[in-house]
Amino acid sequence: MKAARVLGYHQPLQLIDVPEPRIVDPYDVIVRIAGAGICRTDLHILQGGLEAAFHPRLPYTIGHENAGWIEAVGSAVSHVAVGDPVIVHPAVTCGFCSACRAVLRPKPRDCCVFCSYGSSRCPPRQIEGA
Ligand SMILES: [Zn+2]
Repeated sequence: MKAARVLGYHQPLQLIDVPEPRIVDPYDVIVRIAGAGICRTDLHILQGGLEAAFHPRLPYTIGHENAGWIEAVGSAVSHVAVGDPVIVHPAVTCGFCSACRAVLRPKPRDCCVFCSYGSSRCPPRQIEGA
């Protein structure tokens, strides 16, 4: 599949082939992207403006505002099914810790695994292509 990637700061965006994603963990979900937006944050990443604060891991797949359909789910996923339309939030959370499950005031930024796609805190396989 194709991915629009930042290979180096201040360099043109590259459209390159990347491996198809695959389910690895029981809670993995693969989304077939129908549309991906590019926002100012993506341009800041391309220009290296967020390197000090965000630590984007290169290569970085641009376009973190996505929507599509569920294409595959891991064995433990029960809240979405193949074919469901979804948006993909750029902030990754676990959905299980006390910060995520707070009934009145969930605090996803306090989640034990909170990170944003592409940041040095996120596992690299969480968004492979767009
Ligand atoms: Zn959490």
